[in-house]
Amino acid sequence: MKKHRSFPSLDHFRLTAALFVIAIHTSPLGSCNEAADFWFTRVLARIAVPYFLMVSGYFLAKGGWQKEKMKRFLLKTSLLYLVSVFLYFPLNIYAGLPTFGETLKRLFFDGTFYHLWYFPAVLTGCVISYGLSRMGLRFALPVAAVLYLIGLGGDSYFGIVAVFPPVQAIYKLIFSLFQYTRNGIFFAPLFLLLGAAALKWNFEKRISFAGFLFSLCIMSIEGFILRHMGVQRHDSMYLFLPICMMFLFSFLLSRNNGENKTARSISMLVYLLHPWMIVFVRAGAKIIGMENLLIQNQMVHFLAVSILSFSVSGFLAGLRCCRKPDPAARAWREIDLKALQHNVRILKEQIGPDCGLMAVLKADAYGHGAVITARSLQKQGIVKAFAVACLAEAIQLRRAGIRGTILVLGYTLPSECYLLSKWRITQTVVDEAYAVQLSDAAQGKKIPVHLAIDTGMNRLGVPSTDLNALHRIFKLPNLEIQGMFSHLCVSDSLLPEDVAFTLEQVNRFYTSVLKLQADGLETGKIHFQASYGVINLPAQPCDFARVGIALYGVYSHNSPVQRKLDIWPVLSLRTRVVLVKHLQPGETAGYGRAFCARRTTKLAVLSFGYADGLPRDFAGMNGMVLLHGKRAPVVGKLCMDQMLVDVTDIDDVKGGDVATILGRDGAALIRAEDLAEQCGMITNEFLCCLGARLPYRNL
Ligand SMILES: *Cc1c(COP(=O)(O)O)cnc(C)c1O
Repeated sequence: MKKHRSFPSLDHFRLTAALFVIAIHTSPLGSCNEAADFWFTRVLARIAVPYFLMVSGYFLAKGGWQKEKMKRFLLKTSLLYLVSVFLYFPLNIYAGLPTFGETLKRLFFDGTFYHLWYFPAVLTGCVISYGLSRMGLRFALPVAAVLYLIGLGGDSYFGIVAVFPPVQAIYKLIFSLFQYTRNGIFFAPLFLLLGAAALKWNFEKRISFAGFLFSLCIMSIEGFILRHMGVQRHDSMYLFLPICMMFLFSFLLSRNNGENKTARSISMLVYLLHPWMIVFVRAGAKIIGMENLLIQNQMVHFLAVSILSFSVSGFLAGLRCCRKPDPAARAWREIDLKALQHNVRILKEQIGPDCGLMAVLKADAYGHGAVITARSLQKQGIVKAFAVACLAEAIQLRRAGIRGTILVLGYTLPSECYLLSKWRITQTVVDEAYAVQLSDAAQGKKIPVHLAIDTGMNRLGVPSTDLNALHRIFKLPNLEIQGMFSHLCVSDSLLPEDVAFTLEQVNRFYTSVLKLQADGLETGKIHFQASYGVINLPAQPCDFARVGIALYGVYSHNSPVQRKLDIWPVLSLRTRVVLVKHLQPGETAGYGRAFCARRTTKLAVLSFGYADGLPRDFAGMNGMVLLHGKRAPVVGKLCMDQMLVDVTDIDDVKGGDVATILGRDGAALIRAEDLAEQCGMITNEFLCCLGARLPYRNL
């Protein structure tokens, strides 16, 4: 099967159509060649409005003309029209207000400003098309075609048909009602219905394109003949315009895939706003005295109006798209970036001026949001190196604009090492075999790496005793060894045998580093302390300390430490009370009826469940939450998205109140270490298991 490149071409073409509309109203080629300008603005650009009508018809008819959909569309279009009427009212005043009767006529048929005829035309056209389509397209299309032909007689062909006096009389009557036949009765229904009919078309792409070019040629000839004859009363409608539109639409449809709402908004805004932009460009040109360039040169005028229109519309559409739901809606993480930066200062003080702080941001920065955290650290300027678990996490940071060293602590496919050099990411060499694979895969490019040295954890790294292996790795052609590190596995314990093991690990690390250096090898940056290496050991003569959990202001568990640091918790977890229920004694609640009221009980339903990161049996673990600064026990089994809390002893709890799962509420506090312990986890583990759907809210 052939692969086709497909994209939301129907929506994308709206932007071109909007540009054509600006061209119609600014005549870009007007100052160089009149015939060329006629062709461009009075023939080619005339496909713009029929196109807007066809896409409307297409989307309205998709899934059958539904009354509800129609109503919504009509309402939305009417509202937009109403806003536009007010938007252009100042210009109406400037131009001199017409009589009341004329105003009504314009409001319902011709539009209150020159481009606004489109809105009444769509509205009337939709109602007529909907009515006609009830009897099937086979009936509706010919009727709409006849209406179009009548309209054509009052438009491009007026001079020809008006030679017959009775016909002229009929058009005289028509023109006493509306200014043009290009309106909701004679013009819009055919294109709306053709859009609806397009749902059934399945033309070949190349045939559609050739058909479009061919019919455009014929339409151009038609236009020039009519212009030469001087019969056009107006130039919106041609005999070949509907045919041209059918081919164009089926061509766009053949490669259409998906939708682009921004393109829709922008094209509509450009359509709406460009006459104001014309006014602004003209006024601006007069003020700065550049009328010659900005007004007299019609191409420059067109470009200026287009750029201004698209910029303003893009900006307004952007504002609309930026509206995101409030993170503090149902359940969220509160990130205290001040606490984070405070912790950086405390930790830096601890490791000394010659040692850099490498921030460990793996697992979405332990549930704190890797990008938010990294950006805050980069802004503060003390941390210049980062560590993550995998390549994807590293690239995410680079894409977010994070500079400096990013060390991948875990496995990366050797075949993906080009991504390491592309993004300037440092890879951990996990053992000798991996070093060889990486160097082989590198194909001449030097890959920046840190060597992992195993000093007794027996996880990753070249054994610290295997100096020969280390020497061989240093000889590999494509690795650029920028550092060496080890990892401690019981540094969080103060038991004498654990302390002794840690010291042995430290000793092994320094020994192997010194031996390599004595052999004349450049070992680069050396590091081995993680959080507990900083907390329980004195400052080290290293280049980095790789700190994770302590950066987030918490400890892994409640066991004693050498030195309590003045670090502040960064994360709080909050949720909302959905509603409050009253239970009689003996009534049960939740899945499995796991809670049974022993007394008259007030239950609050919180929008936090096991999908957000608490264990299902949190109640059985003596789970508590904070509400109005008081502790409230969790009861029953947790649901995926909700949990029940007994708030009988707390006054005035109501839907919308904020409850605290983790953190401070007034005088009450739930510490991460305690909460994790209750759940049978260490703090790191609890933080990493938070639900991915919990949004972040920075303080
Ligand atoms: C996770 C990790 C760290 C950070 O550990 P914390 O105890 O959270 O500070 C440091 N080094 C390596 C190799 C790690 O995997």
